[in-house]
Amino acid sequence: MAKKIETKNIIVEMDGDEMTRVMWTIVKEKLLGPHIDINVEYYDLGLANRDATGDTVTFDSAHAAKKHGVAVKCATITPNAERVAEYALKQEWKSPNGTIRAILDGTVFRCPILTSNIHPTVATWKKPIIVGRHAYGDVYKNTEFSVEGPGRAELVFTDANGKEISRQIIHNFTSPGIIQGIHNIDSSITGFARACFEFALDRKIDLWFGAKDTISKVYDGRFKTIFERTYADYWHKFQNAGIAFNYTLIDDTIARIMRSEGGMLWACKNYDGDVFSDMVAASFGSLAMMTSVLVSPGGQMEFEAAHGTVQRHYYKHLKGEKTSTNSMALIFAWTGALRKRGKLDNTPKVVAFADALEKAALATIEAGFMTGDLAKLSLPPPQKVCNTEEFIDEIARTLDKIWSS
Ligand code: NAP
Ligand code: MG
Repeated sequence: MAKKIETKNIIVEMDGDEMTRVMWTIVKEKLLGPHIDINVEYYDLGLANRDATGDTVTFDSAHAAKKHGVAVKCATITPNAERVAEYALKQEWKSPNGTIRAILDGTVFRCPILTSNIHPTVATWKKPIIVGRHAYGDVYKNTEFSVEGPGRAELVFTDANGKEISRQIIHNFTSPGIIQGIHNIDSSITGFARACFEFALDRKIDLWFGAKDTISKVYDGRFKTIFERTYADYWHKFQNAGIAFNYTLIDDTIARIMRSEGGMLWACKNYDGDVFSDMVAASFGSLAMMTSVLVSPGGQMEFEAAHGTVQRHYYKHLKGEKTSTNSMALIFAWTGALRKRGKLDNTPKVVAFADALEKAALATIEAGFMTGDLAKLSLPPPQKVCNTEEFIDEIARTLDKIWSS
């Protein structure tokens, strides 16, 4: 076996809940521990510890991620009334991801993991399509109500001194209907655009963005303008990296995406991202094959699996039954963090280890060893449907071969 390597600067480790917490421990013990000493600052975001610390642990971990630049996060429970009873919580703590995102002010990119035996339902897609979703404003922060009868709906802006700046008629109603007000903020759109350009550059992939600026000349027009303005800061770097930025109307973007072979970052407005990220995820197979990374405008990155804590499997596990839970997205969260750390620290061995672990994980599935979620999708059918631990053992065996050669 090759000599154990070490990472240099800190990776912030955020532990989590249920089945993903179980897999987290096994992945560290069997895939990471034997090969690499990782300099981590550990935060336990498991629900019991969030409750015990009054959730300060979540805030501390997010500030640590901001300071050190690289974090890896396990899935965590967002409590609801049932969870409050189940864990006898002091209160219904907020979503940790919401807290972390608010502190890092980031954009979430969802990245599918592809293998040769799981075929996307869109036949032309050969490479991952990464969706970046602007997670602020639009219909998600709307004001809306219904109108019961004839009358005038207006859009009014009054400045901070109380002076009316603009007033426009939305519609003169002659019968009942509905109205809605939405907004966005230049700084948020700019932060989103920067995160997208940074991410595309980091991965050396093209960036696509689409909006409906022909119809919505001011609102969607502003998104287009801000992306183009931000591109002015990046075009040189993009040219050097051999990648491109494409803006087209959103309908044209969709048509092109459906005919493409993939391989791009697709920046989406909030609603488009909500809808199309699920479409892309469904085509690529399983939620367990989808990683997610939060990128802040300052370039800090937090890596995680896109799925939750896989509660149903955890309850089986607690009863002592075998589970077949897929650890791919968790493993790729670790490799993403290690690769980023290695690049920032200029430690090529760490980057090489991240590559080797990903290669081992992909090779394991391609050799026909996989968990139940993929077994149904695999062509040819699997050699063996593994339980949670067997799957990680198979990857460990493959990794030993790759990493020691
Ligand atoms: P989930 O954990 O994503 O699981 C939903 C279903 O998807 C599972 O029951 C399973 O289907 C399948 N699945 C997901 N991940 C899988 C994996 N790695 N391997 C195999 N199958 C997998 O969603 P949930 O059960 O609705 O949520 C559970 C908890 O997770 C909630 O408390 C929620 O708050 C939390 N959550 C956290 C995050 C996060 O921290 N980022 C994100 C989402 C949800 P089958 O049961 O059919 O096998
Ligand atoms: Mg959605």
